[in-house]
Amino acid sequence: MKVLVVNCGSSSVKYTLFDMDKESKIAWGLIECIGLDKCFYKRESVNFPEKKETVRVTNHIQAVELIINELLDKNCGSISDIKEISVVGHRIVHGGEKFLQPVVVTEYAKECLKECFPLAPLHMPAHYDGITAVEKLLPGITSVLVFDTAFHQTIPDYAYMYALPYKFYEKDHIRKYGFHGTSHNYVACKAAEFLGKPLKNLKIITAHLGNGSSLAAIENGKVVDTSMGFTPLQGIVMGSRCGDIDAAIIAYLIDIYPEYKNSDALNNLLNKESGLLGISGVSADMRAILEAAASGSKKSELAFNMLCYSVKKYIGSFYAALNGIDLLVFTAGIGENSYPVREKVCQNLEALGIELDTEKNKENSQNIRCISKPNSKVKVLIIPTNEELMIARISKQLIGS
Ligand code: ADP
Repeated sequence: MKVLVVNCGSSSVKYTLFDMDKESKIAWGLIECIGLDKCFYKRESVNFPEKKETVRVTNHIQAVELIINELLDKNCGSISDIKEISVVGHRIVHGGEKFLQPVVVTEYAKECLKECFPLAPLHMPAHYDGITAVEKLLPGITSVLVFDTAFHQTIPDYAYMYALPYKFYEKDHIRKYGFHGTSHNYVACKAAEFLGKPLKNLKIITAHLGNGSSLAAIENGKVVDTSMGFTPLQGIVMGSRCGDIDAAIIAYLIDIYPEYKNSDALNNLLNKESGLLGISGVSADMRAILEAAASGSKKSELAFNMLCYSVKKYIGSFYAALNGIDLLVFTAGIGENSYPVREKVCQNLEALGIELDTEKNKENSQNIRCISKPNSKVKVLIIPTNEELMIARISKQLIGS
C-alpha cells in the first residue's frame, strides 16, 4: 500500500511517498521559496539519487503539480498510475476546536478548515491550496487531514484556558491549542514500544526541541498539558521565538516604539528576531550558538543557558502536573543531536529521579537509545521523530476504518 504525505508550509512543500507494507520511503523531496524568483527543488527516491535544481513556482498548487507529475514521470518517477496511491495524508498546522482528530477530506471538512484560517494565517491557506491541488491531480484518491493540534485535544480546560475575560474564549477561540502533536504522539508510542510497556501505563514528558520547540505531558497516552499555546510562540526559548514573556511587555513596547503598533512588525519581533538569535545576535541555529559560545561569545552562552533553563522549568512543572514521570524523551534536531543541551537540561534533576549517564549522552547515533543511568528512576530516551511516517500511519488507519 502506497501513501503520499504532503506538508505545505508557508513557502514550501515537502512530500514523502511511503510503502506502508514495509513502512519504508519510496520517494521524498521538497520545494522551497515558493513565490520568490528562484525556488529550490530537491528530490530523491530509492531508485534515483538526489537531484537538485532551481525552478519557477509561484504558488503551492503549481508546486504540488510539479511533484506529482514527477512522481508519475516515465523515466525517473516512482509510480506508473495515480491509482497506486491509496491515500494522501496532509499535515495541517491548526485544527482549532473544529478538528479533534484526523479526518477524511470532504466539502464540509474543507469549509471547516477555512474557518481555521485566522488561527494560522500563513500556513492554513497553503494547506488548503495543497488539498485543492491534490484533488485536481489525483481525482478519486482519498485525502486525510492530520492536525498538529489534535493530539493535544485531551488537555483539560483548566490547563488550556488563559485567565482573560471568558468572552475572548467564546467569541475569538483564544485558548491553548499546542503544536507538534504528531511528533509528540509518534515518540510517545515509540517510547512505549522500546520499553515493551503499554502506553496507557506510562507517564511521559516528551521534549521536541528543534527550531520550534515544545514539551508535552502525557499520561495514559493522552496529553494533559503542553508548552506551546494559542500559537507556537508560547513556551520555551526557541531558535528565533521568545517563548514565555510577561504579556505586559507587549503593551510597554507598543507605547515606546510606534513601529510595533503594526501587528506584523510585532509578530516579526517576537517570532523571528528573538530567542537564541535575539539574545546571541549570532544565529537561531544551536550548532552556531555552541560554536560561538566555545569561542568566547558570552551572549551565545547566555542564550544556550536560557534555552536549557526554560526546558528544565517545563520539565519541573509537567512533573508536578503528572505527579511524577516514568520517562523523559528528547526528540527533533536539538533533542536528538545536541548532547550539551540534554546534559544541561538534566543537570541537578536528581531530586526528580532524573540521572543522566553523561558518557552515553555523548554517543553519536541515529538510533533510539536510553541515556540515563541504570538506576535512574526516570528513564531518559532519545527517539528520532518521524512526523511523516506518523501521518502515513494515521492516514492508512483512517481509510482502513
Ligand atoms: P525544525 O523545527 O525546523 O524542523 P529541526 O528539528 O530540524 O528544526 O531542528 C533544528 C535545530 O537542530 C537547529 O537549532 C540545529 O542547530 C539543531 N541541530 C541539528 N543538528 C545538530 C547537532 N548535531 N548539534 C546541535 N544542534 C543540532
